[in-house]
Amino acid sequence: MGSRALAALLPALVLSVSVRADTPPVVAVRQDLPVIALIIDDMGESRPAGQRAIDLPGAVTYSFLPHRTHAVQLAELAHARNKEVVLHLPMESINHRALGAGAITSKMSEQEVIATLRDDLAAVPYVTGINNHMGSLLTRHPVYMQWVMREIGQIGNLFFVDSRTTSGSVAYEVAAQFGVPNLERDIFLDNERSEQEIAARFEQLVAKARQRGAALAIGHPYPETLAVLERYLPRLDEYGVRLVTVSEMVSRQNVAPPVRMAGGGVAGEVRQRRGPAGPVTTPVLFHQPPESKPPE
Ligand SMILES: [Zn+2]
Repeated sequence: MGSRALAALLPALVLSVSVRADTPPVVAVRQDLPVIALIIDDMGESRPAGQRAIDLPGAVTYSFLPHRTHAVQLAELAHARNKEVVLHLPMESINHRALGAGAITSKMSEQEVIATLRDDLAAVPYVTGINNHMGSLLTRHPVYMQWVMREIGQIGNLFFVDSRTTSGSVAYEVAAQFGVPNLERDIFLDNERSEQEIAARFEQLVAKARQRGAALAIGHPYPETLAVLERYLPRLDEYGVRLVTVSEMVSRQNVAPPVRMAGGGVAGEVRQRRGPAGPVTTPVLFHQPPESKPPE
């Protein structure tokens, strides 16, 4: 057997053994691993917390509130470190919590919504996409979402991540209607700010990625969240997942067909049966109870 033919068989061979085996996975196989994406929201308020967040290893994505004291400087730092930068677009919440500058509210006209969105985008450098800050009121409003998504679609080259701060959100459906590449948040890491809870949510994220092939989490630059991520992110190989930017996850979702493995089946299914955690036998609650504690 030639070396090329052997190389073609390697992914199937490696996947047939536990990832906990002593032999580390070969680099070629890592490209086929289930993927996780991680957005750190609410960037731009605190400089030390933002810097510590940007120091996290790997393809973490950082979401900056517009017009905040440290937003531009930290976004430039993130970009200089090859990190992805997105706009954290403030939108009105159901409990009318303070939104800060650059917010879109239900009192605005279509022209005001568009002007605010454009102004916010101009306020954060290197933006490749947008996710919503709060928004439990606005994201369930189809007309406002149409105004926002039509404009994002017309600007072009921007994705939208629905943070899902309410189970009634129509944001990502409306994004799709206007041809805006989109994803929705699967896991909030730090609704409960204890390291134990955050670690449990991170493990849920990994389990969901291995079940479906991809999963996206949102966290914040809290000391507890950063401490957990500093422990987990250097060890993703052991968990059998790969961290990717949101851009990469969006493009995989929008263009990539399921990866067929040697011997039939889809890559995600193979890994679910043979990944480090073994068979998934316990049903896990992946979705937050709606509005239990607005994770904004
Ligand atoms: Zn936020």
